Amino acid sequence: MTDELDIEEEEEEDEQRPFNSLYFRRMMRYLKPYRRQVLLGATMMLTVMAAGLMEPLIIKTAIDDAIAPGELNYLDRLVLALVGLRIVAWLAQRAQIRIMNHTGQSILYDLRQQLFEHVQKLSLSFYDGRPVGKIMSRITNDVNAIAELVNSGVINLISQGVSLVAITAILLIMNPRLALTAFTVLPAIGYLALRVRTRMSNAWMNTRKAYSSINAHLNETVTGIQEIQVFNRQGRQSERFRRINQRLKKAFMTAIHYEMVLWPGVDLVGVIGMCLVIWVGARQVIQGALTIGVLLAFVQYINRFFAPLSTMSRVYSQVLSAMASAERVFEILDTEPLVYDREGAVDLPKIKGEIVFENVSFAYKEGEPVLRDMNLRIEPGQMVALVGPTGAGKSTIANLVCRFYDPTEGRVLVDGYDLTKVTLSSVRSQLGLVLQDTFIFSGKIRDNIAYGRLDAPLEDIMEAARAVKADDFIQKLSDDYDHEITERGASLSTGQRQLLAFARALLANPRILILDEATAHIDIATERAIQEALERLLVDRTSIVIAHRLSTIEKADLILFIDGGRIVEQGNHRELLARKGRYWQLYTTQYRLERDMALESSLAAGQVG
Ligand code: ADP
Repeated sequence: MTDELDIEEEEEEDEQRPFNSLYFRRMMRYLKPYRRQVLLGATMMLTVMAAGLMEPLIIKTAIDDAIAPGELNYLDRLVLALVGLRIVAWLAQRAQIRIMNHTGQSILYDLRQQLFEHVQKLSLSFYDGRPVGKIMSRITNDVNAIAELVNSGVINLISQGVSLVAITAILLIMNPRLALTAFTVLPAIGYLALRVRTRMSNAWMNTRKAYSSINAHLNETVTGIQEIQVFNRQGRQSERFRRINQRLKKAFMTAIHYEMVLWPGVDLVGVIGMCLVIWVGARQVIQGALTIGVLLAFVQYINRFFAPLSTMSRVYSQVLSAMASAERVFEILDTEPLVYDREGAVDLPKIKGEIVFENVSFAYKEGEPVLRDMNLRIEPGQMVALVGPTGAGKSTIANLVCRFYDPTEGRVLVDGYDLTKVTLSSVRSQLGLVLQDTFIFSGKIRDNIAYGRLDAPLEDIMEAARAVKADDFIQKLSDDYDHEITERGASLSTGQRQLLAFARALLANPRILILDEATAHIDIATERAIQEALERLLVDRTSIVIAHRLSTIEKADLILFIDGGRIVEQGNHRELLARKGRYWQLYTTQYRLERDMALESSLAAGQVG
């Protein structure tokens, strides 16, 4: 379980960042392949907008030039024009929705795919210290924010800007004096659209953040429920939950407060504007300087000021959100894999399985060496056990052989080939890795075993399973080899997962096998099955085992005792015991105890039986 204490202290990622023109231009590049569609979408949007702006003009004409003089024929034509305009707007809007969603989804698709493919290539060092949730949210949420801006944001900004300019121009042309009267409400509309609206969306953003904190907290509580109950942490957990819960409630009510100010405010300002225009306009009408139609058109246009301003403020916050997302997404895209096929890398031929470390030093972080000047030779077919205290560097040795990292100094050679000078795929295809806690993918059991050799026929899969004694438990599952695994194999026991991993490795048949022995204690029957399976698995290949079991270590051709990133002792079990050094110490304090206990319990069992 990850530490439940971290949940609230964990920094939240920025939701908005200042404008950055470099990022902006880079985001816009994703539009390039869809330039034509975007242009078409923008045209459609402008058409809808233009049709909307024409309406008050037609109504004005109808009142002044058709109804007032009693020209019924003209009125018919104007009404038809109005209906026609609506139909055009309707068609254009339909097209616009389709085009923009299509390009929006295409941009999303491209970006998501690019990011996913890139992330898969990145070296393990990228994943070190990056929480899974953050990587996931980049590929999902951040990508959305970018695509939304690139697609609809920009088009919206342009068309609404045009709309704003157009309304202003129409009003000024129709009647400058009345226009100036109408403009007196603009500051209030601007305040509502830009200021209050921004605050409102910020408040909604806080609500979303609080929601995700609630989710994270719930998630941790549910996953860690055993630890929480056993350590009596319910009180603390509830207290923390109460705080986040309160934050959510408060954020929500703040958002509602702004909603409450905004929408009735927009109505009120609209009405005030209308009253002002009627008040000033009516005098002009009475004096004969203004027609009723123009007055009516003015009233209608006033209400149309709000939408573009509101949209522009929305796009503005969209831009800032997209900047935060862009920063995170581009950070990933700009991260180069540290381990990659170098220029002129050759394919490693079929290997015998010799591994040599030549003056290898390695550090995960600069200045903190983990392996120091290590020299090591493993002959083909040898079984090597790595022992030593936790943090000594055993897994790091395994990581270098798998080439998850390249050495900081020195060389790792396989059959005489420097690993940095051969292609990754040719190394990995001849190498197997079995970790303590095997990752079981969702899908069928048979596909999980065939993970390293997808084309393996069922007979081979079954043979591998039988060889490592996984067959027994698989046969008992519903649909045996076709049994569907869910939830990362949570329904399987640790021992069963391990046997599956052995079967997977055996089927792939690598020349070099690296195995991190599970430390988890399992029942004696499974333990025995695993021991036998292991022996079967290690036959005929070079193996490096990070060993925790005495039985494994005793059988090893070579034991390397690692401490502080150095090999402090090497030899086989007998040689090392005779030396009475570190290994002997470890053996007498830890392993012997283990053996005596096993001996005792089997004796006791014998006596009872
Ligand atoms: P062992 O397998 O012997 O327990 P490791 O090889 O896992 O030891 O670790 C050796 C040292 O390297 C430890 O001090 C550990 O904290 C550090 N270390 C291991 N993995 C990483 C990593 N991904 N990033 C930074 N430091 C690491």
